[in-house]
Amino acid sequence: MTERRTSRGLAFIVPEINGGQVKITGTTKLLGILGDPVSHSLSPLMHNRACEELGLDICYVPLNVKADQLAMAIDGLRAMRFLGANITIPHKVSALALMDRLADSARNVGAVNTVVNKNGLLTGHNTDGAGFIRSLEDATSIDYAATSVVLLGAGGAARSIAFALAEKKVSRIVIINRTQERAVELKRLLEHDFSSLEIVVKGTDDEYGDDISAGKLVINATSTGLEADLKSAPVWVDRLTKDHVVCDIIYRAQEKNPLLVAARAKGATTLGGLGMLLHQGVIAFHLWTGIEPPVDVMRNSIES
Ligand code: NAP
Repeated sequence: MTERRTSRGLAFIVPEINGGQVKITGTTKLLGILGDPVSHSLSPLMHNRACEELGLDICYVPLNVKADQLAMAIDGLRAMRFLGANITIPHKVSALALMDRLADSARNVGAVNTVVNKNGLLTGHNTDGAGFIRSLEDATSIDYAATSVVLLGAGGAARSIAFALAEKKVSRIVIINRTQERAVELKRLLEHDFSSLEIVVKGTDDEYGDDISAGKLVINATSTGLEADLKSAPVWVDRLTKDHVVCDIIYRAQEKNPLLVAARAKGATTLGGLGMLLHQGVIAFHLWTGIEPPVDVMRNSIES
């Protein structure tokens, strides 16, 4: 760490954060991300670049928090007057019960990815679904009413995407999940709010080739590894056409992702998870600061 005089007094330059771009002063306000592990997260980079670009005296830090200390850590956000925080794996669901208030986005999905602190009152939000929608609309000119969706996964991310697509009034959602009970539970939650939406549940061993043929939007929202058989299975590949939009929300190594590689070879439009990561962060930044962040600066920081 080095010291430098600035207009705001003595600043500490922290080379470990954002290549030394973040200057911490006596008045610096804090944001952070609570997760375990958290060292792989691109969020500190993205948010610190946005703060730097806007000249905001805010620093966003990675916070590795063990599950049994989550409640204490969230109380610490109040005590240390954080502006807010992101919550990531594995704490998104447990954080729900630790909030003072919940926005609909978090209540519906049953998980929190963004916390806003207003004078010690913590409100939990979930910006993943809206982030997914923005990234989809960046990449395609989708007609929701004419779109039938195949959604693989029923975890937190799949839930937020399903709710966001239901709000956009897609025509049908087929939910395919390894643990069918979780898919059934997601169907039940969706039906409660969207009674006219057609929702079908299938297990990963069921036949769903026809659903892929019929569904123009295919989304992998599971946490399966890049090498997973599930995504290179022939059913995915054989039924894809140039009319499909295929998304995999994992954002690492998008160019090597077997599902996206196969879909591209069939002429489909493909979408990795970086856009969703970007836009969930853009929405969170606005919730914390009330300021629209520089989207291109944030995008460049995570793409590079
Ligand atoms: P989660 O709540 O733990 O859900 C995991 C999902 O993956 C469940 O549906 C689970 O099925 C399924 N799954 C896990 N291993 C599997 C396997 N070997 N075979 C088949 N299905 C398997 O996790 P999450 O929060 O939804 O996150 C899911 C993925 O999305 C993660 O990779 C995460 O990094 C990514 N994500 C990306 C963004 C972004 O901004 N791009 C945002 C959020 C999440 P079961 O129900 O059967 O266990």
